[in-house]
Amino acid sequence: MAFGKTLADRMALSRYENGTWSTPALVSAASLTLSPAAHALHYGSTCFEGLKAYRGRDGSPKIFRVDRHVRRMRNSAELLCIPFPDIAQVEAMIRSVVADCAAIIPEAPGALYLRPTLIGTEANIGAAGHPSSEAMLYVLASPVGDYFAGGDQGLRILVTEHDMRAVPGFGEAKAGGNYAAALRHVIKARNEHGAAQVLFCPNGDVQETGASNFFLLDDQRLVTKPLDHSFLPGVTRDSIITLARSLGYAIEERSISVREMLDWVKTGEAALSGTAAVFTGVGTLIHEGKDVLVRDGKVGPNTRRLKQALADIQSGAAADPFGWLS
Ligand SMILES: *Cc1c(COP(=O)(O)O)cnc(C)c1O
Repeated sequence: MAFGKTLADRMALSRYENGTWSTPALVSAASLTLSPAAHALHYGSTCFEGLKAYRGRDGSPKIFRVDRHVRRMRNSAELLCIPFPDIAQVEAMIRSVVADCAAIIPEAPGALYLRPTLIGTEANIGAAGHPSSEAMLYVLASPVGDYFAGGDQGLRILVTEHDMRAVPGFGEAKAGGNYAAALRHVIKARNEHGAAQVLFCPNGDVQETGASNFFLLDDQRLVTKPLDHSFLPGVTRDSIITLARSLGYAIEERSISVREMLDWVKTGEAALSGTAAVFTGVGTLIHEGKDVLVRDGKVGPNTRRLKQALADIQSGAAADPFGWLS
C-alpha cells in the first residue's frame, strides 16, 4: 500500500461558523466544497496531526497516545490563530472514524493512519491581517503498511548547517507551511546526494529532519535535543525516551553539535523517530559533500531493540505498561 494514497470512504467533519462548532458528522471523504478565497489557501491557516490506530490482539482498534496528539494540535492551532474545538470533541471525532474503519485496519505492523486536519475557511482575500472567522476540522483515515520496510541498511541523510526547516518559534507547530518551506532543501538533497532526508542543523545545532526527530544512541545512552520552540515535539520521541529509560539507558536531553555527532557515529548509532517511521536507523551522514558512515552503515542493535520494544507495545504483542493505547 502506498503510504497516504488509499483513503477510507468516510471522514469525520465539523465546521466552525458564527462562533460555534457544528455537531461532528461522518461524511464522504471524496471531496470538499471550499471557497477559492478560503483563508487557508491564501494565508496558510492550516495545521494537521498524524497518529495511528492498531488492530488489537482481540480484534478491537487501539489508538496510540491520542491525548498527546490532540493537545499538540491545539497548540499548533493556537500558534496559527485558527479556531479549535474542545479537546473532547476532537478525540471523539478521531474515535468515530476509527470505529467506522474497524474492518479495514491492517494487521500490525500495518495500521490505520489518522490525519486530523484544520483549515481556516473564511472566504475573504482581504483577511491577511486577521484570523479566519470560520474553520473546518476533518479527520481522514488511511490504511498503511510498514513505512520504511527497507531491510537492515540505514538511511542516507544530508546534514545541513546552513538551512533551517522552520521559522524560529514555528518549528513546534505541525503547520502545512513548514513542509512547503523545507521542501526545496529535501528535493536538492535527493537529487544531488541521493539522500532520503535532510537533517537540519542551523549553526551546527542538530535539530531534526523534515518529518522526524533525531537521536544518538549506544549500549548505555540515548541522546536527543531537549524540547524547545524550534522543532516538533514528537510523540514517538517521547515514547522512545520513556521506553529507553525503562530499559536502563541513561537519557541525555541536551544540545548536540554537528562535530559531536560526526564523532559519535564512528562507534555509536543514530536514528530517526516519527509516527510513520517509528524508529529508523541512519546509515550514512552526508556532510560537506562527503559520506560519513554510521558505524558500518547498517541499522544498529540498540536502534533495532528500541524499535521492536515500541512496535511490540503498539501491536499488542507486549504489555502496555504506560497506558499508551486506548
Ligand atoms: C510529525 C513530525 C515529527 C514526529 O512526530 P511524531 O509525533 O513522533 O509523529 C517530527 N518532526 C516533524 C517535523 C514532524 O512533522
